[in-house]
Amino acid sequence: MKKAEKQIVKIVDQSSQELLEGKGLKKTKLRMELMQHFKNARHAQSYGDLKKVLVEPADKSTLYRNLSIFEEVGLIHSINDHTGTAKYALGASPSSGHEHAHFVCENCENVYCVKGMPELQLEVPTGFRSKNIHTIIRGICANC
Ligand SMILES: [Zn+2]
Ligand SMILES: [Zn+2]
Repeated sequence: MKKAEKQIVKIVDQSSQELLEGKGLKKTKLRMELMQHFKNARHAQSYGDLKKVLVEPADKSTLYRNLSIFEEVGLIHSINDHTGTAKYALGASPSSGHEHAHFVCENCENVYCVKGMPELQLEVPTGFRSKNIHTIIRGICANC
């Protein structure tokens, strides 16, 4: 099993409570609900997606603050696609050693985490330092 896959499986197997406790985060109702939702989500979630499903009331700044805390500790990662709206999915960032690609559906604009990364042979110009590579696959998802 690849590293990213293993890490995602590990997260899904744990309860929301364990995940929050493991990162030293307080278990608020909102965080528990967010974690549960991310574990069940089939594609990356935007603020709009989350707003629609959350039962626990949260204003925009509270929600974004919690998302950024989750991202900081590696429970979720954000994906910036062409829409300019950040979307979030379970698991640490692909740039932190958990490499995986993202599939963007051109029809419904949902973003899916995809296992694995293509082999790339890139030559960056002398003096340039690469930090990370984001692989985006565009196409049509199974629901469309
Ligand atoms: Zn689609
Ligand atoms: Zn992802």
